[in-house]
Amino acid sequence: MPRYCAASCCKNRGGQSARDQRKLSFYPFPLHDKERLEKWLRNMKRDAWTPSKHQLLCSDHFTPDSLDVRWGIRYLKQTAVPTIFSSPDDQGPRATSEQ
Ligand SMILES: [Zn+2]
Repeated sequence: MPRYCAASCCKNRGGQSARDQRKLSFYPFPLHDKERLEKWLRNMKRDAWTPSKHQLLCSDHFTPDSLDVRWGIRYLKQTAVPTIFSSPDDQGPRATSEQ
């Protein structure tokens, strides 16, 4: 089953990151932790939405300090909340500055 990111602005899928596929991980929503789940959804701007246990968010939305790295494997901290959600409007205008 292919993994994909539940963020509406994100097109990342398992093994296919737009940036660097080796850095991409997928994490399940904290369904058991209502308070944290609310923060996740608020940051995603999807308050009214309830993810299923099969839905995942990719590591692009977490700051590096949200992750613990042990033996090269990244673990999401128990307190981590995703904060990086670029809107589709952010893409495009600056594409020419990369040379
Ligand atoms: Zn994503």
